[in-house]
Amino acid sequence: MTTPGVATITGMRMNVESFNLDHRTVAAPYIRVADRKTLPAGDVITKYDIRFCQPNQDHLDMPGIHSLEHSMAETIRNHANYVLDFSPMGCQTGFYLMVVGDHPQDEIEELIAVSLTDVLELTEVPAANEIQCGWGESHSLEDAKAAARAFLDRRAEWSQVTA
Ligand SMILES: [Zn+2]
Repeated sequence: MTTPGVATITGMRMNVESFNLDHRTVAAPYIRVADRKTLPAGDVITKYDIRFCQPNQDHLDMPGIHSLEHSMAETIRNHANYVLDFSPMGCQTGFYLMVVGDHPQDEIEELIAVSLTDVLELTEVPAANEIQCGWGESHSLEDAKAAARAFLDRRAEWSQVTA
């Protein structure tokens, strides 16, 4: 028995939420809640799937996604104190954002939009050096800005996950 939208490679429910997402059914760009956990004291942590590229059709090259990671890690924290993490996906098609709390989709979309807009204004990638980064030479501000611009240009599509 399968559920629509659930990956059918194994037919079994897997531990990782995104492994149960049929990546053939999504339409990037989008922002969706991937997971939400309630901690023992009642606080909530929410994880977002922020997909820049259509899975298995397109991806960001490593220097660009790495530089966007560094840039967003800095800019997003100028706009929200509840950000835990902003990290690239290993498949290089997007990022995971983890935040404390439960926030309306509109608020998260606006947070992403203002933070990416800030990235467009950067003149250098934050912490792109061998002291502050594990691969300080693998960076491209130009590619990071191009990815940011392309994602921003399609903001109207962010809240729609499937075609
Ligand atoms: Zn780095």
